[in-house]
Amino acid sequence: MQVRINDMVEVLAGEDRGVRGRVLSVDRTVGKVVVESVNVVVKHMRPTRQAKQGGRLSREMPIDISNVALVCPACGARTRCGARYLDDGTKVRFCKKCNANIGPIAPARARYAKKS
Ligand SMILES: [Zn+2]
Repeated sequence: MQVRINDMVEVLAGEDRGVRGRVLSVDRTVGKVVVESVNVVVKHMRPTRQAKQGGRLSREMPIDISNVALVCPACGARTRCGARYLDDGTKVRFCKKCNANIGPIAPARARYAKKS
């Protein structure tokens, strides 16, 4: 999967098409993501013991992960990412358009370090 929490993504389909936002959560088992201020619904909540405050609450609902595209933090384009190992064995994602490093996805491991 291309998308991780706190990534910027662009919505490709639906009511919020074209909107960019930060990923708040990813559910890998059902393939859904929650994106900040995307697919917002108004929930009418009654005050309960759990939620003290009632009334109309805005809440983001999950959208299908296939309907979002990663936005590269370096070049700002919507892109796909690949994965590769740095010389010290850290696994990182990279932008397929500008080749920039998007950030680590696994800590450095000697097994994948470049042999000198
Ligand atoms: Zn890029």
